[in-house]
Amino acid sequence: MTEVPPDIAEYLASPDTLPEWVRFYRAYPTVTAAVQAVGNGESVAVFTSEHTAYGQQVILIDGKPVIEVVLYPNSQAREALVTAYLNHSDPETATAAILHALPHLLPEDIDLTGIDCVVEPGNGLAPRFGFRRRVSAAGLHTWRDYDELHPLGELYQVLSWHSTGHNIAEGTEAVSILRSHGLPAVGCEPCGEPLTNRHPAWPGTWVCLAEEYGPRCDAFDDPFRELHELDAAGIGGPHDPSTSDLEPVT
Ligand SMILES: [Zn+2]
Repeated sequence: MTEVPPDIAEYLASPDTLPEWVRFYRAYPTVTAAVQAVGNGESVAVFTSEHTAYGQQVILIDGKPVIEVVLYPNSQAREALVTAYLNHSDPETATAAILHALPHLLPEDIDLTGIDCVVEPGNGLAPRFGFRRRVSAAGLHTWRDYDELHPLGELYQVLSWHSTGHNIAEGTEAVSILRSHGLPAVGCEPCGEPLTNRHPAWPGTWVCLAEEYGPRCDAFDDPFRELHELDAAGIGGPHDPSTSDLEPVT
């Protein structure tokens, strides 16, 4: 049985610790334990949405243990990326352009030394784009050693769900940055949501990513507002992709 360092024991005992971290640290209370498990063929990984979308795993690269972290853009930024990806006619060119554009979505002072922009395949609407860091686990025994030697710094903060005014670009700002990098990102003029007309549920109709039930622009100016009473709260109109130079898919 691996000894549990006091800071991890305290974290595990706290009612505020999220269940994914409890599972991870119970199984791997030290980096050494995680590295041993990987050597035995176990998959050592945790995904959490605490503050930001964050994946951490211990892997072997050329037989050497590595701690890999991937931080993903928050949902608002991802909406801009995925709609721009869908609007592009060529997925490979779109992927290359998004990887190139990703750092430009971050505030200028973010240090990306040791961070790679990566794409991970998936079966969703678009692949996953993220910021990946890999550091050697050699010589690290506790997770505290790892955290203190390799802090993630501000990158973690700027990708947070919580708006601090110093976050990754989203909405119309993200659309304009992506467009300046050659991507066919489109924003709704009144409401600012990034749009696609290639959502598989709504081909040819401009929707934002979450609109499984069809477009409902929050900023739509309903000409019949005064006439409805019971209905008025539920009515929204089409989005207005005024910045678009794209033809709808037919
Ligand atoms: Zn809109």
